[in-house]
Amino acid sequence: MIHKVYIGLGTNLGDRQANLRHAAEALEPKVSVCRASSIYETAPWGYADQPNFYNQALECETSLTPLRLLNFLKKIEINLGRVKNFRNGPRMIDLDILFFDDLVMRTERLEIPHPHLHLRAFVMVPLAEIAPELVHPVLGKTVAELLADVPDKGSVTAL
Ligand code: ADP
Ligand code: MG
Repeated sequence: MIHKVYIGLGTNLGDRQANLRHAAEALEPKVSVCRASSIYETAPWGYADQPNFYNQALECETSLTPLRLLNFLKKIEINLGRVKNFRNGPRMIDLDILFFDDLVMRTERLEIPHPHLHLRAFVMVPLAEIAPELVHPVLGKTVAELLADVPDKGSVTAL
């Protein structure tokens, strides 16, 4: 069974554009990238004293299950040089599962939809570029509608 998944990428260390490109390349062929948003530059969130992030959203297809996809993304993060760090701290690459079909799951290891996505401009602005009509399975609103309610959208600018 083929699943439609949306993945959020973030990076604020090293060559940020290369990190995004390498992550997208590493997804293939297990996860095939159908659409990519523009790259956006974003002021850091949570912990301010660090370089700006580059963020991007990808629309993908995969036959992996949610947990296998999560493990695969974590492996890519490690291969691309991410070291264990503090929450919201600097990183080479962060790969988050935003949506997985219209699945809703809440476990300690994995929450889908990603629990904070509708609050974060750096996720919603790229996502709205590629999937404005997508409906959040819990909140029952489209990505475009949710984006309209997000504060601080001005801090996210396309490269
Ligand atoms: P963050 O993305 O919040 O900055 P991490 O990337 O280190 O931090 O992720 C912390 C943990 O969040 C991961 O180990 C993973 O098990 C969990 N997690 C829960 N839901 C998701 C999701 N939808 N996508 C990615 N990771 C998730
Ligand atoms: Mg993450």
